[in-house]
Amino acid sequence: MRTRPRILVVAAFGILLLASCREPPLRPAPGSNLILICVDSLRPDHLGCYGYRLPTSPHLDRLAASGLRCAQAVANATWTLPSIATLFTSLYPSAHGMHSYSMDLQRVRPLPAGVPTFAAFLSSRGYAAAAFSDGGWVSRNFGLDRGFERWEEGTFGIKALVDRSLAAATADAGRPFFHYLHTHTVHWPYRPPPPHWSAFGIDGKNYLGRDFSWPELQNRASRGEIAPGELAQIVRQYDAGIAYADEQIGRLVEGLRERGIGGKTLVVVFADHGEQFLEHGQIYHGQLNNQTGPNRKTCYEETVRIPLILAGPGVAAGSVAEEQVALIDLFPTLAACLGFDLPPGAGQGRSFLSGGGKEWALIEDNLNGLAALRSPERKLIVDRREGRAELYDLKSDPGEKADLSASRADEVKGIMAVYEERERENRARGDRLVPASGPSEVSPGVRDQLKALGYIQ
Ligand SMILES: [Zn+2]
Repeated sequence: MRTRPRILVVAAFGILLLASCREPPLRPAPGSNLILICVDSLRPDHLGCYGYRLPTSPHLDRLAASGLRCAQAVANATWTLPSIATLFTSLYPSAHGMHSYSMDLQRVRPLPAGVPTFAAFLSSRGYAAAAFSDGGWVSRNFGLDRGFERWEEGTFGIKALVDRSLAAATADAGRPFFHYLHTHTVHWPYRPPPPHWSAFGIDGKNYLGRDFSWPELQNRASRGEIAPGELAQIVRQYDAGIAYADEQIGRLVEGLRERGIGGKTLVVVFADHGEQFLEHGQIYHGQLNNQTGPNRKTCYEETVRIPLILAGPGVAAGSVAEEQVALIDLFPTLAACLGFDLPPGAGQGRSFLSGGGKEWALIEDNLNGLAALRSPERKLIVDRREGRAELYDLKSDPGEKADLSASRADEVKGIMAVYEERERENRARGDRLVPASGPSEVSPGVRDQLKALGYIQ
């Protein structure tokens, strides 16, 4: 890996875009290894490198300074299964169809047959593809293991995921590897390990542990029953979980360096969606227990924006991308980073390396009948169930408090036309897919994990 004097890295990080003007932030580095880490539910604005005031992320901040930080990254879905299926296939949720379920888990559609996946693509090009998942939705139960040579899932925790990845990296020496790590360490219910408590003001007295009713919390939020002090404690526990994930990602990066493969391994850290802390009256993401009525608040910035950090071979140190990028583009982007062209029509995303960013990112919450089209300046939220829309000026109103749809009807109409075109494309694409054969029974183990994660009651 290219090294620079530390002071230059810091200076380049300070002047942001100038760094990426001097050289492209991403260039192909054929033959590199790839480790893709999803920190489920991680909000970018709770990381130092995205401006957070608390010390949640020293290792991720260093990783970002040594590579590329995407300042305007968004997920294409508001909860885990559709978001990760979009990542793996480069298809929008309403195209791949893995976007809905009922509380009895009878309506979960697995990955359609024959859809190319990123893991299958890399496996076919000689990569050792392995996944280490904390389980829940990121399970072979839903066909997400397709294309992986090795898939390990369970309630591991991030420390075990890092151990498994480092062990596999050593064992796979001789051929390039792709590892996908999915951790629930930051996911609801927020239960950071004790060594990370004190830095965030958590002690044995205020800690919300096993006796605290997490399942009731979403319902109490909907009724406006969360006091400011309680919210502050919830956020402390979320932040301390980030610090633990950050420490373990730091250990992974250091472990790669110790094994002499740090310079040959592209490390990418992202989230599948954000998390709500009452910005629009809700806690959690997706409002899976409130699928009717006014509680469907899933397409606002706190849920939609994600961190996205890339570091390693081919990535210019100290780069910041201000253009909007979306998870649907990660499969083609990372394929290009590893020196591969995708077959035409392989997915709906496009590589960031081709430049320009995404003018409009589509975010879908099919479960709640919502969708959004977002640019760094505007967001239109479409409520398909009630036939209405909200328009926000993200520059002057980043908290999305003032709905401009009534006063800017022409603008709403223009963005709605873009949305309807995307919707038609997705429907056409989805209609061409062949559903997976047979019913998808959800195993008791996965069912228990989903319950513990707050998805079912
Ligand atoms: Zn998730």
